[in-house]
Amino acid sequence: MQITLLHHTPLFVCSHATRTCWQSFDKGDCGGEKDKELIDRVGNKFKHSSTLEHLNYTFYIQGISRACLQEVARHRHTSPSVKSTRYTLKELRNEDEFKIGDFENASRYLVLCGNEEVDNASIKALENLRLILQKSISLDIAKYCLPESYKTELTLSINARSLQNFITLRSSKSALWEIRNLANALFKALPEDHKFIFEHCLYKEG
Ligand SMILES: Cc1cc2nc3c(=O)[nH]c(=O)nc-3n(C[C@H](O)[C@H](O)[C@H](O)COP(=O)(O)OP(=O)(O)OC[C@H]3O[C@@H](n4cnc5c(N)ncnc54)[C@H](O)[C@@H]3O)c2cc1C
Repeated sequence: MQITLLHHTPLFVCSHATRTCWQSFDKGDCGGEKDKELIDRVGNKFKHSSTLEHLNYTFYIQGISRACLQEVARHRHTSPSVKSTRYTLKELRNEDEFKIGDFENASRYLVLCGNEEVDNASIKALENLRLILQKSISLDIAKYCLPESYKTELTLSINARSLQNFITLRSSKSALWEIRNLANALFKALPEDHKFIFEHCLYKEG
């Protein structure tokens, strides 16, 4: 998967919002150490978490499976815009046969899990789909035989409070491996000076 952070709110917006409550603007340092300490104290430690909602992040997420997308979509406090299969499945029409065992070629369209038997079953489903698309069947109908491993992409906007919840739930070892990878990759893609807001949400062994 590939994650690109397209946009983020500067920290001073969050500290300004927080300082609005006490009119303590004169104590701010424009997103510097004093503001970071305030964001951590009020937003994280005091659980006045709504102040974190002023920080928004927009990620371009490429190469996750539709199985993973289904789990991402359960997070209601996010705004996803997802590649439409109804409009884009025609991308498969001009492809040559997807052969069993040719994992490199199939991985252009599928998220492979590393289990040979399962991955070959996905390739079979992909080839079935390609054959269906050679016929004059509409994409609206053809999409019903998509494998869950089919790759997709989305632009996801999420505020810091919701991202904390996402990282807490989805970096956990009880989460599905692919969304766990996604949660860790989202954290990694954050600006360095924002990571302190989320560090405590990351699952730690032991
Ligand atoms: C390990 C794991 C296993 C899972 N297994 C399943 C499963 O088997 N089946 C399944 O259906 N789902 C499953 N889920 C998905 C899970 O139930 C949530 O839908 C998903 O994690 C989104 O979490 P959320 O509701 O906290 O996020 P969001 O929808 O982003 O909500 C964020 C927060 O807002 C608040 N909130 C949002 N909506 C409401 C509301 N209507 N009422 C009150 N408070 C609200 C809550 O505090 C919530 O935590 C699983 C999740 C995990 C992490």
